[in-house]
Amino acid sequence: MEREQIEKRYTWDTSDIFPDDEAWEKEYDAVAALADLSAFRGRLGDKAALLDFFRADEAFSRRVEKLWLYASMRRDEDVRVPRYMTYEGKMQALYTRYASSVSFFEPEMLSLPEELLRERAADPDFAAHDYALSRLLAQKPHVLSEKEEKIMALAGEPLGGFREVFSVLDNADLPLPVRTLDGKRTRITHATYGLVMRGGSRQARKTCFKAYYGAYRSLLNVITAAYAGNVKKDIFQKTARGYESCLVMALAGEDVPPVVYENLIASVHAALPVLHRYVALREKLLGAGRQHMYDIYVPLVEEADISLPYDEAYEEVVKGLAPLGEEYVKLLRRAHDERWIDVCENEGKRSGAYSTGAYDTHPYVLMNYQPTASDLFTIAHEMGHSIHTYRSNAAQPYAKASYTIFLAEIASTVNEVLLLKHLYANTQDKKLKKFLLNYYMDMFRTTLFRQTQFAEFEEIAHRKAEEGEPLTRENLSEAYYALNKAYYGDGIVHDKEIAWEWARIPHFYRSFYVYKYATGIVSAVSIARAVLSKGRPAVERYFRFLESGNKTCPVDILKEAGVDLTTRAPFDAAMQEFSDTLREFEALQGLE
Ligand SMILES: [Zn+2]
Repeated sequence: MEREQIEKRYTWDTSDIFPDDEAWEKEYDAVAALADLSAFRGRLGDKAALLDFFRADEAFSRRVEKLWLYASMRRDEDVRVPRYMTYEGKMQALYTRYASSVSFFEPEMLSLPEELLRERAADPDFAAHDYALSRLLAQKPHVLSEKEEKIMALAGEPLGGFREVFSVLDNADLPLPVRTLDGKRTRITHATYGLVMRGGSRQARKTCFKAYYGAYRSLLNVITAAYAGNVKKDIFQKTARGYESCLVMALAGEDVPPVVYENLIASVHAALPVLHRYVALREKLLGAGRQHMYDIYVPLVEEADISLPYDEAYEEVVKGLAPLGEEYVKLLRRAHDERWIDVCENEGKRSGAYSTGAYDTHPYVLMNYQPTASDLFTIAHEMGHSIHTYRSNAAQPYAKASYTIFLAEIASTVNEVLLLKHLYANTQDKKLKKFLLNYYMDMFRTTLFRQTQFAEFEEIAHRKAEEGEPLTRENLSEAYYALNKAYYGDGIVHDKEIAWEWARIPHFYRSFYVYKYATGIVSAVSIARAVLSKGRPAVERYFRFLESGNKTCPVDILKEAGVDLTTRAPFDAAMQEFSDTLREFEALQGLE
């Protein structure tokens, strides 16, 4: 369908941002004149000047956000329209100009005397910036002399080269072969690999798996050099800045205490026997004898046939999220009725789904709705992001409104869990029940166990390098293979190729990033359980989380919602939830 053919009520209303392109262009010209804040350079030690800088920066940023939002939303409606590509190019140029004009800010602030920073952080006039100022204070002991900082800044680009090397290799030079898969000559790509692992015949999966990993193996020397270089880059930075370890440095960047990482790994290890039980269940259900690593993505259950038209699906989501209270439901209805959501697929529209917004607008959601069970969850997920954004924007000043990545996937996952439990409780259909439990178990396997396995690998690789052991293709692959054996247990054949899986993970070039997926699901499961078992007091605590933006340390924000990641409790509760889900599934299956 072309976009014009879609009923208006199923499209988002961009006129809440700008009435039309002309208004956008006029605003662009006005804002472009404000993009240079370099006049504040050298004056930040002065209280009045610093306040003025914050004001000017906020005024500019808020207007820019709206410009970006409109340009990117209009582009995503139909990516073929050249006008919005031009808008995007203009925004990029404007942003680059602004960013280089304010690049003095952080180094200059960090060069101010500690007492002065402390004074500012405690000054009520800087209340909106107290957390940011306290973060600068925490960073200060790791800041070097002006001359050294200049060298660090100069080194930034070449040190980013390892990620670039991997990216080019992975997207351009990887020698992915052509193979016959289920009777068809197929060029193996990253996308076909995923499709075949889920939907191909066993022979096709095996062929594809061996060919795919074979391609990585053929470049294993250069991948090892890129990865080892990336780890050495981390070591260079942590050593230069005086951090205890690469892990401590990475977590300090997000104000997360290392004990959270330790708790995650320890709890997952304690729960590995449950994952092994899950692997055993798969073998029974798939009924093809011993499982291999190329069988692990095969769905245990077919997609449930809930073919609900969009409005009914939305209504079902509202019912599922009703435990979050009237206020939450009211916002869901507003999003539906006031056209925050772009629902249908159309010719040229960007694929997938996301939630977006600006501080001075309500959030928006892009979807490509299909009447499937998965898309019911997509609605719940994206509305989770949107309402988190909406409440944080409403409750916090601009400087504290946008929540960090550490917190970003919690509200969306809470909604998925609540919807799942609602659907489960309200159906007698055994097939649907199994689909739902399997969906939940997959969430645990892919988001909790798999990401923790990655997190643990990163920790091992960095520790080896920090202790002076050279990273080689052999010791990296051995470490990964041993982890894989520990995670999946003896109920599966650990094909030799899986030892090279570390070599294909792009996230490893953003060190210590993936653990956040795992802590996100742990927190969400904890919150959803509390909401369902404790009702209103838990909902109130959860709203405090939704309204916190990034006002303080993310772990403290979660404590307000009743989740203390510095203890084992929420982690162990999440593992218990996985175990309970598996038991329920086994009971339904009549395996017990
Ligand atoms: Zn999300």
